[in-house]
Amino acid sequence: MNIMWFCIPAHGHTNPTIEVVRELVRRGHTIRYYSFEPFREQISDTGALFIPCDKYLDTLSQREESRLKKVSTTEMSVQSFHTTAKMDRMLSDDVTSFGPDLIVSDSACFWGKLTAQKHHLPLIVSTTTFAFNQASARYMKHSFSEIADLILGIPRLNREMAMLKPLGYHIRNVLDLVQNANDTDTIVFASERFQPLSETFDKAHYCFVGPSLRPVEITRTQRAKPLVYISLGTVINNQPDFYRHCVDAFAGQALDVLISCGHDFDPRSIEPLPENITVKPYVDQLSVLAEASVFLTHCGMNSASEGLYMGVPEVLFPQTAEEEAVARRILELGAGARLSKAAARSADHIREQVMDVLSTASYTENARNLRTDFISAGGAHRAADFIESRHAG
Ligand code: UDP
Repeated sequence: MNIMWFCIPAHGHTNPTIEVVRELVRRGHTIRYYSFEPFREQISDTGALFIPCDKYLDTLSQREESRLKKVSTTEMSVQSFHTTAKMDRMLSDDVTSFGPDLIVSDSACFWGKLTAQKHHLPLIVSTTTFAFNQASARYMKHSFSEIADLILGIPRLNREMAMLKPLGYHIRNVLDLVQNANDTDTIVFASERFQPLSETFDKAHYCFVGPSLRPVEITRTQRAKPLVYISLGTVINNQPDFYRHCVDAFAGQALDVLISCGHDFDPRSIEPLPENITVKPYVDQLSVLAEASVFLTHCGMNSASEGLYMGVPEVLFPQTAEEEAVARRILELGAGARLSKAAARSADHIREQVMDVLSTASYTENARNLRTDFISAGGAHRAADFIESRHAG
């Protein structure tokens, strides 16, 4: 099979696809993976052909960039439409010369979905968050500012969609692009049990494969002191006060603490650090989780799933509506405890919640049950089987 694969420039959306692509290449399929320079090495390593799209992305004004950082659906949609228009000619030429049998596109990558629509190619959507339909949308409690952003953005979105018409893209409604359609073949990197309201999705089209991760051996029993791993992910992670409070919370405790703080925060600003605390801009998260006893996470879908896949109970500190939904699901399944919003200002509260999760056996038991569930969901192999079955069918 010839496959065109599309993703947005985000670690959380790219990471789960990597092992699926590697498996499909191993099975003899040819994949052209359209992505961005920071992901070149990771994608090329799978054996797929990496196609850089960086030059088709708009250079953003400070205002646009700050809206994107706030995960504004309107801003993301507008930027996605611009990218679609700029990539149109290149992608149309590639469709002709490469002759794809199907397209796999990230759920947030409009140019992938729209290329399939324009050229009448079979589409499989790759969903790295919870799958999103009208029922599961109610589960995600959107804030007032998120709803206002969507409503106020409608006229701007309508103008942008009209500009794509002459290029052959007909979009009825931006929600058709944002949410998961029940009759579109869709891979979801959550297990059926973890996905909220999974019964509302059509199982003829939805494949809940769970996390798709490289194999990593669990090593935590070899540690002298329990390891607390703290990360707010790769997007909304510039939170100096929160990192300072984490350092105050654990200085001198009989624990090792590793904080992944992202590239926007300078760890030198909180030096000297106590000897039991390390702060790094980026770590090999899976290897760290293999050693960790508790994970204080922002509840990005990937991070939260990776922690549970490694059987690690979590302290939940969500920042966005989507992360709130992940936190809520983990609370329902008993595999974590929540930090209150005031947590960013209270070292005591952070320490109490981490200690509670460390010392209460049920959190770890429930995280380990989820590990079993996630493994049986099938991961990358099952996703590859699903993609092959769509071509055969
Ligand atoms: N990640 C990593 N090292 C780090 C921080 C993050 O490898 O130091 C990876 C993590 O394993 C996950 C992804 O980056 O796969 C973050 O995705 P997630 O959905 O958790 O959050 P986002 O960064 O999109 O908010």
